[in-house]
Amino acid sequence: MIYTCYEMIADCRAGRAEGWRFFVSSYVPVIRQLLARYQSGAAAGLEPILAALYRPESALFQSLDPAPERWFVAQLRQKVLKQLAPVSPASTIDLETISAALEPLTLVEKQVAWLETMLYSPAETGVLLRMAPATAEKIRGKAADLIRGKVDSWSRNILADNGRALGVAAAAAAGAECLPPKTFLDMLDGRTTWQGRGELERHVTRCWHCIDHFCRLVEVVELLRGNQALSDAEAAPYWELLGVSPARPPAWKRWLARRV
Ligand SMILES: [Zn+2]
Repeated sequence: MIYTCYEMIADCRAGRAEGWRFFVSSYVPVIRQLLARYQSGAAAGLEPILAALYRPESALFQSLDPAPERWFVAQLRQKVLKQLAPVSPASTIDLETISAALEPLTLVEKQVAWLETMLYSPAETGVLLRMAPATAEKIRGKAADLIRGKVDSWSRNILADNGRALGVAAAAAAGAECLPPKTFLDMLDGRTTWQGRGELERHVTRCWHCIDHFCRLVEVVELLRGNQALSDAEAAPYWELLGVSPARPPAWKRWLARRV
């Protein structure tokens, strides 16, 4: 029997241990990957983040929509980043300035620039967007030149340093025309392309909320690729932390155990 992400969300929302056990086993490895990328300075570790997600007000499990796994992980990423210590950039830049500066770029070029705010190197960006790292590097240079022309105080890492605040601003900038996750997921699965969907492409090219959303889903695909669930022994300390009882072995195993 396959236990789905949707069932997990329903079980977690209802406070059933089965949901939380599955959440810990399947998604603690994802949280570890997120911390490795986004946690800077003193590492507070995974435990306080898990504890915060476990609280009812974390709202991670409150959406009533059936959530496909990738959308759920995209939400989880936002919740995890919210728990991290804030970063203070040497020079600041806001979303409006970036939007104005990078206006001449194509959609793909804007995605490359945005992945820099998500702390991806040119090589990693190449993997995520299926382009040569040298191409990603070149586009970054172009974006840097455009931004330098718009700000008084520029630094090489201005996008990366401001990434956290920019991500929050982009996530909050949703408009009525913004695309649902399914449209992006269909695109990532190769079921659709921008071709012949001029209106959608025109919107996304202008909309940093949608560019951020798309880049986060691209990130999720990569996070889930080869994500290894924890074994019961590895998950046990986290179950204990959350006060979730370990799974009872199936009846036939308990019967066998009594026989030896
Ligand atoms: Zn949009």
